[in-house]
Amino acid sequence: MNREDKRNTLLLPAGPGGIAEAATILRAGGLVAFPTETVYGLGALASDPRAVAAIYRAKGRPSFNPLIAHVADVGQARREGRFDSRAEKLAAAFWPGPLTLVLPVAQGGSVCDLARAGLDSVGLRIPANGLARGLIAAAGGPVAAPSANLSGHVSPALPSHVLADLNGRIDAVLNGGACPVGVESTIVSLLGEAPVLLRPGGVSRAGIEHVLGESLAGAEEGIDAPVAPGQLASHYAPRAGVRLDALEVLEGEAGLDFGGRFAGAPGTILDLSPRGDLTEAAANLFSMLRLLDASGLQRIAVAPIPQEGLGEAINDRLRRAAAPRS
Ligand code: AMP
Ligand code: MG
Repeated sequence: MNREDKRNTLLLPAGPGGIAEAATILRAGGLVAFPTETVYGLGALASDPRAVAAIYRAKGRPSFNPLIAHVADVGQARREGRFDSRAEKLAAAFWPGPLTLVLPVAQGGSVCDLARAGLDSVGLRIPANGLARGLIAAAGGPVAAPSANLSGHVSPALPSHVLADLNGRIDAVLNGGACPVGVESTIVSLLGEAPVLLRPGGVSRAGIEHVLGESLAGAEEGIDAPVAPGQLASHYAPRAGVRLDALEVLEGEAGLDFGGRFAGAPGTILDLSPRGDLTEAAANLFSMLRLLDASGLQRIAVAPIPQEGLGEAINDRLRRAAAPRS
């Protein structure tokens, strides 16, 4: 399936036939917008980095934010994230529903690096929409999905909103009519000692605090509550230094190549996409950065990557990785 030039986005009917067709598209690495109780999500199989890269391409997103992995049931969620007693309580109280839990990634979890933006955490939720859960179950794995709109546009609550932005850019929309909540899920991080409200949304702060029996740090007015260092870290950074726009790999450097520029050079070199394909490069970005970081070399030399299409998001992430850290 060439997702670059989709001509027509299918509108699939609610019901078993539409779900089956949508699931087949997801399993083949395609993109399907689907209804949740909050907004329409733009879904791809969370385990497939090329499919996840295609989400960013379809949305025209200039940066890689971690995506919420939508799961069909708590058993599936427990295979992806490490649940503590707070997570168990919140899941029991609010799932299915508009609450996303950010948890440490579980050993053997299937959500790919790119969907987690390279982080060791995973954002999970069970949507309260039967079509969505049916689709996720039929797809056979978690479905990564941001809102199904072009970057910078408002979130869609109707199939027509999705099509206005993404017709011809995605494979299908599963037609579930209007989304009742219309605002996004509340996001709570359980990575540190104190639970943190990362984003207010469909489940209230008070409701969450009542279930947890403690107050939430962060979000809303100023983030003035004490937050453990690193808890809000929103992007992966390699230990090694990063040198951008490298034309060659120097002594003591590992090479992160694009389009075969460093081909034949000695040393530790990985190519994001030997044939210069930006979707393939996005799919490989975080796993290759990690592998090169693990080589123990002092610095990673990165070949120039064109600032077009997904190249914008790739370069955004590489610039952050290259920025001096404290
Ligand atoms: P959305 O904008 O609805 O797609 O939600 C994405 C947001 O969920 C991100 O910007 C993060 O705040 C949060 N999130 C999702 N996955 C993770 C993760 N693995 N680690 C930390 N935060 C996450
Ligand atoms: Mg959005």
